[in-house]
Amino acid sequence: MNKDKYGRKISYLRISVTDRCNLRCIYCMPQEGIKLFPHQEILTYEEIIKITKASKQIGIDTVRITGGEPLIRKNLSFLISQIRNIEGIRDLAITTNGILLDKLLPELFSAGLKRVNISLDSLKRDRFFNITRQDSLQEVLKGIDRSLEIGLTPIKINMVVIKGINDDEIIDFVKLTEERPLIVRFIEYMPWGSINNWGEEKIIKAKEIKSIIEKEFGKILPVDINSRGPADNYQIDGFKGFIGFINPLSEHFCGKCNRIRLTADGKLKLCLFSQQEIDIKAKLRAGTSLEELTEFISNSIHLKPEKIDLDSHIKNHPREMSQIGG
Ligand code: SAM
Ligand code: SF4
Repeated sequence: MNKDKYGRKISYLRISVTDRCNLRCIYCMPQEGIKLFPHQEILTYEEIIKITKASKQIGIDTVRITGGEPLIRKNLSFLISQIRNIEGIRDLAITTNGILLDKLLPELFSAGLKRVNISLDSLKRDRFFNITRQDSLQEVLKGIDRSLEIGLTPIKINMVVIKGINDDEIIDFVKLTEERPLIVRFIEYMPWGSINNWGEEKIIKAKEIKSIIEKEFGKILPVDINSRGPADNYQIDGFKGFIGFINPLSEHFCGKCNRIRLTADGKLKLCLFSQQEIDIKAKLRAGTSLEELTEFISNSIHLKPEKIDLDSHIKNHPREMSQIGG
């Protein structure tokens, strides 16, 4: 297994399959006017599969498919089945806004999808509309029901908590774990791009969220649910599901970071918060063997930055989050 120059094992590849989305979340995408990648710039499934096979050679065993919205890319189940068949990839999941899950889950499940992360920031119809600019809460809720019905596990619900926008729904989100084996994760709001109107005062830290939860339910106890991600997990006594906290800003997990990202237009990103991008598509399209590609990725991971440089991230407008995939 390859380590980067700071000794971190790189085992997780996050693949964005499209920069398109059927929502326009206020913190992620502008309502209109976003420049989309031309189709010929987007990696084909064959190219993604080749990069995944090469990544596996350097120790990647966990793959997550993201977007934009991954479920709007045609025939995603083909990609799922192909990645599932790569020997050595032991964990494959998608991150989705959930709108198309109800419709597509049977074929994705047959293709080998076993787990899913669903992004959901409000359980109130009007507020869901205000955050996503689309009236689709019912579809997302149906997608969650369908994921439970079909037996995906684990099913994680990711809520970006923004002070003054949806922090009054924390308890309602915790209650989602009462009767159902969902893992609800509270995610810190991150500064991004030119549109997301981030301010430190809008962050609500894990400590504060925990104290809101404990006021309602009493002391919450940490649990080890082997979720492999960066969340701290807890359970309310007697509840079937779990809750977790992901705090990329207030609790840097750079020292434990095991991931690299592949953007839909074929760039390797070694750190979510860095401007650095490595053009793997150019290498691939110039004609390269699997061995050469493996060596290219292996060399690239040594360029992974040691830690977040938040000031530079905020100053240098990065690509929009929808063009990276979270
Ligand atoms: N469309 C899919 C979805 O929403 O799940 C996948 C792509 S989306 C960019 C991946 C994740 O990034 C979502 O959970 C979303 O809430 C999160 N995200 C986007 N912008 C964010 C921000 N500024 N701060 C925190 N999380 C953000
Ligand atoms: Fe689309 Fe996901 Fe971004 Fe929302 S967070 S606009 S669903 S890519």
